[in-house]
Amino acid sequence: MDDLTSLSLFEMLSGLRRGDFTSRELTLACLQRTERLEGRLHALITFTPELALETADAADRRYAEWRRDDPSAAWNLPALLGVPILVKDVFCLKDVRCTCGSRMLENFIPPYTATAVQRLLDAGAVVTGKTNTDEFAMGSSTENSAYGPTHNPWNLERVPGGSSGGSAAAVAARLAPAATGSDTGGSIRQPASFCGVTGLKPTYGRVSRYGLVAYGSSLDSVGVFARSAAEAALLYRQMAGHDPLDSTCARRPVDEVRLEGDGLKGLRIGVPEEYFIAGIQPEVEAAVRAAIGQMEALGAGVQPVSLPHTGYALPVYYLIAPAEASANLARYDGVRFGLREPAEAMWDIFFKSRGKGFGAEVKRRIMLGTYALSAGYYDAYYGQAQKVRTLIKQDFERAFESVDVIACPVAPTTAFKLGEHGDDPLAMYLEDVFTLPANLAGVPGVAFPVGFDAAGLPVGMQLMGAHFKEDMLLRAAHAYQQATGWHLRSPEL
Ligand code: GLN
Repeated sequence: MDDLTSLSLFEMLSGLRRGDFTSRELTLACLQRTERLEGRLHALITFTPELALETADAADRRYAEWRRDDPSAAWNLPALLGVPILVKDVFCLKDVRCTCGSRMLENFIPPYTATAVQRLLDAGAVVTGKTNTDEFAMGSSTENSAYGPTHNPWNLERVPGGSSGGSAAAVAARLAPAATGSDTGGSIRQPASFCGVTGLKPTYGRVSRYGLVAYGSSLDSVGVFARSAAEAALLYRQMAGHDPLDSTCARRPVDEVRLEGDGLKGLRIGVPEEYFIAGIQPEVEAAVRAAIGQMEALGAGVQPVSLPHTGYALPVYYLIAPAEASANLARYDGVRFGLREPAEAMWDIFFKSRGKGFGAEVKRRIMLGTYALSAGYYDAYYGQAQKVRTLIKQDFERAFESVDVIACPVAPTTAFKLGEHGDDPLAMYLEDVFTLPANLAGVPGVAFPVGFDAAGLPVGMQLMGAHFKEDMLLRAAHAYQQATGWHLRSPEL
């Protein structure tokens, strides 16, 4: 049998239905590939082969029943039955360790499963492991993981992006056809771009965050990585929708994602000049502009659009996100949650546990955020940032009066070298300039490959849409992928 891991998710599903192979065989192929490549990639924190094979066997029994009873009713089968996936290690999965890339949660075994993950399990997906992440999703390279960095499968000396770098690298390296991610300021789109895969960050509130460990509560969203927009759409459709367990989850019904049809014909694409700033890698700009040209050739109308407050997004984000993080991370004190260092007095327990449990970047954010929220500074920093955030959101609302989608780069550069921003947090923060605005405005964004630089590293492009327009974004990306082939390339490993 050919290597099953090279099949697309749709080919896996049709092969399973036809009985060309079993879910156990497919899952074993993914597990074996993971074992073979993990030494070089380090995309996973926790590997769950027993759980995976158990779930795969259950899927095979379901296929056997279906074949025996009613093979005509294919719609009766769960949408992802028997297909391996990976889960970012910030989502709870019952009885499997959830570290969030932190020593603080080294021994945390969640007693429940995140809704987004549960919905994928209900659809028959087989979880093969938990993927590496920057500690508490704070970072843009996966280097802030307490368990060591992930390596980019296109070039092992490069970062995969972050914070969902493990998921992006794993999907690019075909350890699984899809993986979950979380995106607070770019953590799905930027690693998708660095690893040459498709990443969807849905609208704020579209996918439940119940069971996602909180980072910045007004920014966090749950999404997915896959090798194409069509595959991402399939997973998104399973995950999205109201959840009574998350009060921030939208009640609005989920739009059907119709991929076929005129994805780009008549689509009004806005190109914001504020996103083509000095300092952007010329190959990134060239590839993104070429992709926009190609979309125009496929029937889209292209026009300039202005998002005048873009320049404030970075400082606004780096006040709001640390402020919310400092509040969310207060619970890890060695008493209520997290690693506990023994000491005589309560304050010493807090001090020692947090001192040992958290890494440098997390401590930096907690200090920054606590300062911004403290009495006397709250209005000057957090309050002011929220006001400017409204201006950024209004920029988008105005832009979406005249265009359907906004097209721009995902990040100013392709994947940088491991250690390159090691002692310069501000340089690392700059990697997010093009992704943060969508989180501040709550709008959806999709990232997908549109070329390669001279060093052979993938270049990504981002499409952003108005609230709840995921279907439009996925359809446009799908139409582009149907006409081109960048998403079909895979790294040699
Ligand atoms: N890199 C950004 C940060 O460090 C975004 C991370 C994310 O989206 N989780 O905050």
